[in-house]
Amino acid sequence: MTTPENKKAYSRIKARRKLMAHLNVSEPFPANIHVHHKDRNPFNNDLDNLQLMSSSEHISLHSREYWATVDNKDTTKRLLNRLESLLVCFNTFGPSNNI
Ligand SMILES: [Zn+2]
Repeated sequence: MTTPENKKAYSRIKARRKLMAHLNVSEPFPANIHVHHKDRNPFNNDLDNLQLMSSSEHISLHSREYWATVDNKDTTKRLLNRLESLLVCFNTFGPSNNI
């Protein structure tokens, strides 16, 4: 099935192959080297838009961007909701009910 995620994954593979051909390197392409899309559009595989990065550098870049856009209040709210549901779970199945 062709999902938007599959299309993105296929486009990323095409980007990697295009860059490999451009750099005249062949498989295996090191797994710890990622191809980053500078404009964040995984479908824009123009060579100017592609950048090689170490996997750690790449993950760090996107993590920083993600956390910069996350609404902290919303995150706190979600964590509190999660904690609340864990407490409900604990109160239902926790030690006090096993006595
Ligand atoms: Zn990237």
